[in-house]
Amino acid sequence: MGETAFFEVDLATPLGQVRGRVAVDTGPMGLVDLVPTALELTNILVDRARRREEKEGRRISCRAGCGVCCRQMVPLSAPEAFYLADLMDSISANRRKEVLKRFGGIVEELERQNLIDELLDPDYCDDAVLPIAKKYFLLNLPCPFLREESCSIHPNRPVACREYNVTSPASWCADPYSYEVVKVPMPLPLSAPLARLTAQLTGSKPRLIPLTLVPLWASEHADLRKVQWPGLELFQRFMAEVGKTPSANSR
Ligand code: SF4
Repeated sequence: MGETAFFEVDLATPLGQVRGRVAVDTGPMGLVDLVPTALELTNILVDRARRREEKEGRRISCRAGCGVCCRQMVPLSAPEAFYLADLMDSISANRRKEVLKRFGGIVEELERQNLIDELLDPDYCDDAVLPIAKKYFLLNLPCPFLREESCSIHPNRPVACREYNVTSPASWCADPYSYEVVKVPMPLPLSAPLARLTAQLTGSKPRLIPLTLVPLWASEHADLRKVQWPGLELFQRFMAEVGKTPSANSR
């Protein structure tokens, strides 16, 4: 572990300036260590986006206990995939067994449907998501972390889950290919800069990993999970990528 340095964050977003001070370990840091900052920034932006909707008279339909959207394919950047893999390593053995069994059931179904190769394709990126996402959704596979229609990892849920808020009726999310679900626009989807930074560091293309393939993908990328870089440099490069992200929705 190195010394702690403080990094001043000052981001111009369509929802106003986001300013803050983030403590960064200057010692070696892995990709996964960027995730808490990405989640914190996402929370700030989601909160502002929701408040803007309400101020303009639109009501957010999302409520605790509504897990309708948790049958969609959730795209993650590699650092977020490692974050969830670490989270699973930290839970009790019984719970882990139960969650891994659910992941295993989904992988079996995706294999039966010949979707695994497409989903694990290294070229799987934003542009490739939509056609596969529809096939995936029609299989009606609840997220392995969904329990009684609530997220069992709510404080640790990925960026895409935080960013998914709607103002159309919640029931429409059960059939998003028949209804035009109205999502709350997010100015800075934070998975994209994490994916771009990973691509730069590994000499590959930016890619996204479906949440339900995390155990499989993380075991195939065990070496990358262990790689570390000088912390401050890694964090600065991440923030530089955040600054380049255009307005868009990631899910
Ligand atoms: S991680 Fe949580 S919020 Fe995201 S899809 Fe799974 S259950 Fe739903």
